[in-house]
Amino acid sequence: MRTPFVAGNWKLNKTPDEAETLARCVVDAVSGITGVDVAICPPFPALERVASAVRGTAIGLGAQNMYWASEGAFTGEVSAPMLLTCGCEYVILGHSERRQFFGETDETVNRRLKTALRAGLKPIVCLGESLDERQADRTEQVVEAQMRGALNGLSADDVQGITLAYEPVWAIGTGLTATSEQAEAVHGFLRQVLARLYRDEVAQAVRIQYGGSVKPDNAAALFDQDNIDGGLIGGASLEADAFAAIVKAAV
Ligand code: PEP
Repeated sequence: MRTPFVAGNWKLNKTPDEAETLARCVVDAVSGITGVDVAICPPFPALERVASAVRGTAIGLGAQNMYWASEGAFTGEVSAPMLLTCGCEYVILGHSERRQFFGETDETVNRRLKTALRAGLKPIVCLGESLDERQADRTEQVVEAQMRGALNGLSADDVQGITLAYEPVWAIGTGLTATSEQAEAVHGFLRQVLARLYRDEVAQAVRIQYGGSVKPDNAAALFDQDNIDGGLIGGASLEADAFAAIVKAAV
């Protein structure tokens, strides 16, 4: 039995002051909700302030990216040890915006993922097809290649420490959501591929979130699907009550 997991990706939003305020509102809004894991992922400069706001609560802290080296001449990057020092438990890797705007590839996601796991962070690995790929009927081919690339060289034990997030690119921030049936079909397919790559027990243990314009009014129908284990939430995670309603829908 997989515990559902809802994570908020705040993207490039919120100054440290604003982030701390929002985090405190999220703490209040989700307090008392049990049976679901919750995390929030603010931008790097706000991590420590948000860490102090969620300390002692059930809400986990996550970062939105990290580099694979621990230190060195890599201007603009942050490392796993730095994230741990800021109080992070989770890290989002391979978000489509990183792939689209910052040149990330399956190979660089794989390097980040191996480093994150070695450091003891819990990675959320994003994958998903573009609109052109869906229209060309290539969704399964694309997500399978992304998953194989990201997980390359990882053991069954490693994989059980990962959350996957299926996020169709055409549904992110667009207001378009995959229907529950479309999402469930891809989640079920990803689980089959996991079973082929590892074994069924591993495939059954890995949580697969859905992401892409999840809102309070569509969350329950998505999360009711057998293979959807919560969500990665962008826009709606910037509003504490909306985020809490989505968290409730996952229980
Ligand atoms: C995301 O960025 O991971 C995401 C799913 O965004 P949104 O909910 O805004 O579509």
